[in-house]
Amino acid sequence: MNCDDAHLLMHGHLDGELDLVRDLEVERHIVECRHCAREYSTLRAMRLRLKEEEFRFEAPPELKARIRAAIPASRRPGADAYPARRETWAPRAIRYAIPVALAAMLALVILPRAFGPSADQRVADEVIASHVRSLMPGHLMDVASSDQHTVKPWFNGKLDFSPPVTDFAKQGFPLVGGRLDYIEGQPVAALVYQRGKHVINVFMWPTHDSATSPQRIDTEHGYHVEQLAVAGMNCWIVSDLSSQELDKFASLLHAQG
Ligand SMILES: [Zn+2]
Repeated sequence: MNCDDAHLLMHGHLDGELDLVRDLEVERHIVECRHCAREYSTLRAMRLRLKEEEFRFEAPPELKARIRAAIPASRRPGADAYPARRETWAPRAIRYAIPVALAAMLALVILPRAFGPSADQRVADEVIASHVRSLMPGHLMDVASSDQHTVKPWFNGKLDFSPPVTDFAKQGFPLVGGRLDYIEGQPVAALVYQRGKHVINVFMWPTHDSATSPQRIDTEHGYHVEQLAVAGMNCWIVSDLSSQELDKFASLLHAQG
């Protein structure tokens, strides 16, 4: 710290307005620099003097009376809780600032819920993210098998539900395996099917909804997502297959229930 810095920060130091580090820096400089030490002691002495009785001024009673008389009756103390403050800008600014701040908070918290992505779209985003992650090398399958009697028992003990597993090889959608995944913060079953070189992921977790027909979920990511309920399972299907082909697969899944 040089003398210029010390000079600037000295007042803040005296008023206790500096943070601990700055405070210590100013103190150290004053100890080391005779010039600043002198300036500091002058400042401190002046500060103490200003607090003394002889520098304080009490308004005489006549002045108080004249000021009171000059204020309209409606604005005198007692007429209103905060008569004088009405005239200053600061409380007025605060009175306006609070509703504005509340409105801004409401806008930030409520509007995204009302107009943001729907619950379905949020799940669709998660499902697509998991699908993309599964396509990275070594992530697609925990159990690689086209045999539904191998894949289904593999989930035993790993999930507290048993997903229905059907191979659709005869219909052109062979089962290739399965893995554990997470959607909406819960462990889910992911079944992996193939159509040519395209991968189809089917995420399943229990639902109380009765069986529902497949519905296409709009997405902005170039993947196709369909949702249906079958056999007590919420099923989310995702792939880069065409919508028509995915429709076909979704109806196969729907028919097994
Ligand atoms: Zn100095």
